[in-house]
Formats: sequence, structure tokens, C-alpha cells
Amino acid sequence: MGAQTLEDWEKMRDDLTFRNQAFIDGKYTDAASGETFECVSPIDGRVLTQVAACDVEDVNRAVGAARKVFDAGSWSEESPAVRKKVLLKLAQLILGNADELALLETLDMGKPISLAKTVDMTGVANSFQWYGEAIDKIYDEIAPTDKSGLGLITREPLGVVGAVVPWNFPLLMAAWKIAPMLAAGNSVVLKPAEQSPLTAIRLAELAIEAGLPEGVLNVLPGFGETAGQAIGRHMDVDAISFTGSTEVGKYFLKYAGDSNMKVVSLECGGKSPNIVFGDAPNLDAAAQQAGMSIFFNSGQVCVASSRLLVQEDIKDEFLEKVKAVGQFMQPNNPLDPSTMMGSMVDKTQTERVLGYIEAGEKEGAKVSLGGKQVRQNSGGEYIEPTIFDNVKNDMKIAQEEIFGPVLSTLTFKDPEEAVKIANDSIYGLQACLWTNDLTKAHKIARKLRAGTVNINNTNGGGNVMPFGGYKQSGIGRDGSLHALEKYTQLKSTYIHLG
Ligand code: NAD
Repeated sequence: MGAQTLEDWEKMRDDLTFRNQAFIDGKYTDAASGETFECVSPIDGRVLTQVAACDVEDVNRAVGAARKVFDAGSWSEESPAVRKKVLLKLAQLILGNADELALLETLDMGKPISLAKTVDMTGVANSFQWYGEAIDKIYDEIAPTDKSGLGLITREPLGVVGAVVPWNFPLLMAAWKIAPMLAAGNSVVLKPAEQSPLTAIRLAELAIEAGLPEGVLNVLPGFGETAGQAIGRHMDVDAISFTGSTEVGKYFLKYAGDSNMKVVSLECGGKSPNIVFGDAPNLDAAAQQAGMSIFFNSGQVCVASSRLLVQEDIKDEFLEKVKAVGQFMQPNNPLDPSTMMGSMVDKTQTERVLGYIEAGEKEGAKVSLGGKQVRQNSGGEYIEPTIFDNVKNDMKIAQEEIFGPVLSTLTFKDPEEAVKIANDSIYGLQACLWTNDLTKAHKIARKLRAGTVNINNTNGGGNVMPFGGYKQSGIGRDGSLHALEKYTQLKSTYIHLG
């Protein structure tokens, strides 16, 4: 049955023991330096545990172990049918341990426990299951050569691949990467964000239990400038797949250029427009999703619809409906199963978001809902759902990614103006639009420079659709079979038949 009430989750928290070391070559180990860092819960400020702070030497050991097992072929040359079995078993183990994993995620980064279980852990298990099921159904190609030869075009794993991930969906973002990486036969070195390392560390032993050979999945907690940079610059890492900010994404391009030209794929920031026309099929549904899209996960979502573009004549009516969603989504204790909005990830992020709220007010936008830090006596980090009205697209709050529960509302007259505002951004991760007119929707969708365009919804089609960004939102796609392109390379083998 699992934990059901706040008391259940609190009791489970009190009984938890935390895995807090690096996982290298199939074993938990301290960082070579012996250094650790404090893992603080943003729910109430309590120190959960001390976590190994990995650095260059640990990265060298992990990459060495990953390379050794890759060359030995015990995973890289294993049949797809066997890899499938291991990944399906891992998916099962994740579901079997979903309470514990969800609790670790909630304690570590403050998301509501109900969502950690239903959205995050279900999604994590689904990723391993999906790529496991897919991998023994993919065929290679024969080239259309003339009859004197046979041209085989095959896909091979890249080798040792690094995954550096953020804290907003800690295990889910990791799973989006390592499930296709492992399915394709690679060895992996994963670095979770320093704000949220606990679930990735725990996953490592579940992978061994599922039958993954030692050394194939290594997990290195630590900081970006040290462990993250060392993976990015390593001469024996063949590819790096990064999810995080655009600023750090650019560092990885530089690290690759300075080192071995490793393949770099990036899932970075967003400032997604949500365009609502007066002829939207259902304004209540549009408002509900507009609110959920920015307040879900306390706005710490790369595809959050953070710019609401509403057609002038319905703005006041529509904004009232979105405000009602914000009023409903007040932050509360994330361990309470009825909580819809939890805390920010840490104090730094709280201060960053409050700084943006101040900047918006200074630039002349009007706070129409929220705007304040709340629940301070909990010792945690909470910000109210916040809505700005009268925003202009050249304001800081319309141009920069806030990564918090802060919505900027703008208006437009006609489709041309909506597209112009929507595309006036360095980002291009997602755009949404609401209209009853299918022709208008298709025409606008073609003009929007975004990796995903959602029409009459804000959620997209899930992991079966490629996911990634135009412009400075990234390079490459997660999700769907296309993700495998990032973790394999093509080999052309030509046989002369005479
Ligand atoms: P971040 O860029 O600060 O950190 C991401 C990861 O990079 C962490 O593991 C961090 O330790 C590491 N890192 C930081 N500095 C580094 C450096 N100098 N060298 C190497 N590694 C370094 O991002 P964040 O604050 O953890 O996450 C928020 C960002 O992630 C937002 O911009 C958000 O939009 C983005 N994000 C994007 C997607 C997507 O799919 N496009 C999904 C989730 C989050």
C-alpha cells in the first residue's frame, strides 16, 4: 500500500538511511580527497547527510572503469534482448522502491511528495521500460550500392558517455539520458546536481541489482566547476549529454573544443510563450493549464510557460481565471500528500527569484498576484505563485529565465504580433497556442521557432515525442527513438563482392 499520510512520510523520513557516496565500478566509495558537502533539505533547512564531493581523480577512476567494461564488451556487445531484460528489471525495481525514491527526491529538492511519486518516479520507470522495449526492435540499414558490393550502415554505441543533469527533476532528467545511453550499449558516468544527488546515488545500486555489469553506470556527486568540468574536459569521454542552464551548456561546448571534440548535446533553458487567442476552444481549460504550467514544480521547469501572451480583448477576463489557479496553488509542506506546490530548491534559488520579482516591479510591471516569500518559520524556501501584468517583452522578466513561480503577462492584437513577441527571445524550447481555428494554428506553429509547439495544451505528447530546443535552448533531442542518435554513431562497412 505504501505511505499515505503526512505522518507516514514523516515516519519514513525519520527511519531513512541515506546513500551518500560516489558509485564507481560497482561499489560505493568516498571521494578520493575525502571531501564531502552538506545536503540540505529546502523543506525545513535540516541537514540530511554529508555527500562525497567528487573531483578530477574520481572522474578519472570512473571513466577508467567505464572504459574497461566497455572494451570488455560485457554490456557494449551484449545482445539487445539481454539489455532489454536488464532495463525492464530496473524499471520494475524503481516502481518497487518508488516510495523511498520519491521521498529522497522530495526531501532533497522540495517538490510535493504526491508529484514526486506519480510524475517523477513513474516517468523514470517509464523511460527505462520504453528504451528497454525499443532496443531489440531497431534494425540497421543496407545501402543502395550497385551489385558489386554490399554496404552495411550500422549503429554502434559511442563508448564512455557523460551525463550532467540539473536539480529540478533530478532522477527523471537523469533517466531521460541514461536509459537510451544504456540501451544503446554505452558505459555511463553520471553527475547529478549538487543540490539533489540522493536519488541518482541510490539508482546506481538498483542498476546492479537489475543485472547491469559493474562499471557500466558510475555516479559521481559533486560540484559543477570540479566534477562537472572534469567530465566535460576528459580526453576519454566520447560524448557528453547535458541538461541545465544555457550558460553552463556553453561551457560544455568549450570543454569539448579544448579537449577531444567529444559529441556534445545540450538541453538548456527556456522562456516559453503561451499564446491565448480570443477564439480558444475553452478559456477555463486554457487558464487552468496556463497556471499549472508556470506554478507546477514551483516554476522550476525548463518548459514552464513563463510568458503569457493574451489577445488584448480577453486579457482581463483571462487573467482573473489564471489568478484563481495561483490562489489555489499556495505552497505548503511537500510531505503532505495534498500539497500541490512545494518549496524552491534552495536559498540561492529563492534569492534569485525574489531578485527578479524586484526587477519586474522596478521596470514598471504590476504585481497582480503574490510576489512574496512565505512559510519562513518552517525554515524552508517558499515563494507564492506570482503573476505580473503590464509586462513588455524587452523587460528583464520577459527575456531572462527566472526558473520560479513567476508569470509575465503580455498582450497582442493579431497573429503577426503574437508570433513576433513569441520569437523575440534567445530561447526556443517550447511554445503553446490556444485557438479554435485549425488553419491559423498550423500557420502559426510553422512560424514559431521552438522545438515543441503545443496546440490547445501546454503539456506535449510525453516521452514518445522528441524533446529539445531551437536557438540557445539546446542542441539535440531527448525522448523518442531520436534520442538514440545522440548515443550511437554510424559505421559504414562496404564489402566488395566482385
Ligand atoms: P546548471 O546549469 O547550474 O547546472 C546543471 C548541471 O551542470 C549541474 O549538475 C551542475 O553541477 C553542473 N555545472 C554547473 N556549473 C558547471 C560548470 N562550470 N562545468 C560543468 N558543470 C557544471 O542548471 P541548474 O540550475 O541545475 O538547472 C536549471 C537549468 O536547467 C535551467 O536553465 C533549466 O531551464 C534547465 N533545464 C533544461 C531542461 C531541458 O530539457 N531543456 C530540463 C530541465 C532543466
